[in-house]
Amino acid sequence: MAQPSITLFNTLTMQKEPLVPLEPGAVRVYVCGPTVYSYIHVGNARTFTSFDVIVRYLRYRGYRVTYVRNYTDVDDKIIKAAKETGEEPVALAARFVEIFREDAKALHMKEPDVSPKVSEHLPEILRIIQTLVDKGVAYESQGDVYFAVSRYPEYAKLSKRNLDDLRAGERVQPGEQKREPLDFALWKAAKPGEPAWDSPWGKGRPGWHIECSAMSARYLGESFDIHGGALDLIFPHHENELAQSEAANSKPFAKYWMHCGFLDMEGAKMSKSLGNVVRLRDALVKVDAEALRFFFLSTHYRHPLNFAEKAIADAEQRMEYFYETLRKVDERVAGKDFGKGPLHGEPEKFLRDFETVMDDDFNFAGALGGLSGLFTLMNELVDKPPVKDKALVGRTLQALREIVGKVSGVLGLFEDDPAQWLLRHRDRAVKERGIDVAEVERLIAQRNDARKAKNFAEADRVRTELKSKGVEIMDTPTGTTWKVAPPATEAAPV
Ligand SMILES: [Zn+2]
Repeated sequence: MAQPSITLFNTLTMQKEPLVPLEPGAVRVYVCGPTVYSYIHVGNARTFTSFDVIVRYLRYRGYRVTYVRNYTDVDDKIIKAAKETGEEPVALAARFVEIFREDAKALHMKEPDVSPKVSEHLPEILRIIQTLVDKGVAYESQGDVYFAVSRYPEYAKLSKRNLDDLRAGERVQPGEQKREPLDFALWKAAKPGEPAWDSPWGKGRPGWHIECSAMSARYLGESFDIHGGALDLIFPHHENELAQSEAANSKPFAKYWMHCGFLDMEGAKMSKSLGNVVRLRDALVKVDAEALRFFFLSTHYRHPLNFAEKAIADAEQRMEYFYETLRKVDERVAGKDFGKGPLHGEPEKFLRDFETVMDDDFNFAGALGGLSGLFTLMNELVDKPPVKDKALVGRTLQALREIVGKVSGVLGLFEDDPAQWLLRHRDRAVKERGIDVAEVERLIAQRNDARKAKNFAEADRVRTELKSKGVEIMDTPTGTTWKVAPPATEAAPV
């Protein structure tokens, strides 16, 4: 099989390039995972969702993918958080690893192939530090070990920063034993009460950056294909990983660097100091997981995305429309045999278009745009088919539904049973809007009685009464169903 022509934007070259894996047919991917000291926020969730879809798409395209995403479970932030809760740092980190896994699962993310933890990879970390010391690229100083930036001439090739500017902006902080301000710690001498491991330089713990150099090499080899993370990791984290790995191994490190854009909060940068950080867990109480995924995917992964209440509510409404369509289609054609024969239009074209936009640097937003056309056609075929041949319409709907299934496996959307999803969505809306379900059911029964008695004026009156309560009713071949109507725009919170 000819390999697909995927192109991707490479931060290293600042260009879109064709994906040519180091080993034909296999793609090795490393993504910097969470530092497990707290709950992840929606910005982190966007990054991990993006790579979840990128990996799913590479697999869909037939690549054998090895996906590694680490847990940083040794870190200053963990030690600080553990002091506050009174836990051992290792125990606190282990607790948040589990919390992260639950959150990721709730957002329909697939588990990576390997999720290594720093605390379980000390031998690999010590080995690479030793190599750097032996090569004269790193030096020991009072129990710390630093990477000597001046000994690695290609430093800053990823971030394209100017070394003189960087040097001018950095100072050696009190307590640091480094020779030059840009040098960074590979190993930190133990401080009392902190987790520490034995090393040739005395007891201590690894610096942040070295873990990704050690763990990527362990599971993907010294050279691999794609290294990913959020945009704010380019400097210093990824720059330092790159320097350490290439200096230690004398080989190119990652071939392609992919970075995911920021998530802004109602137009402002999301940050702890501004107090506008939204935890994923809290967001998922208010918004459906697939709707949040849909919202994340509605913008190109490299672009900034604004976490605005209105846009998220719109995403949930879109999902409702998609699921309503799928329910209708399933009611009409699921499990039925319409025989062989021609189809209306060219359903396969939707799949080809999906592949074309996704091949172009994983254009999620373009893929969602294409889905709109597919769903419009499904609605048309159910509600007012342009052709009389029922078998042809049935076959076409089945073909389109199958394409939705394939796309859904890549995007992690529409993975739910439509009826179940719609019911859950309605339950949440009922709670939010304080709707009395028993009263709704009573009014629907009253309307059905009126219709049976051919009292259409009364039936209409009840429909209007329900509408005034925010309830919209739909008459389907299997009976009357209802949903909560979207809030009127004038009543929407500003
Ligand atoms: Zn990393």
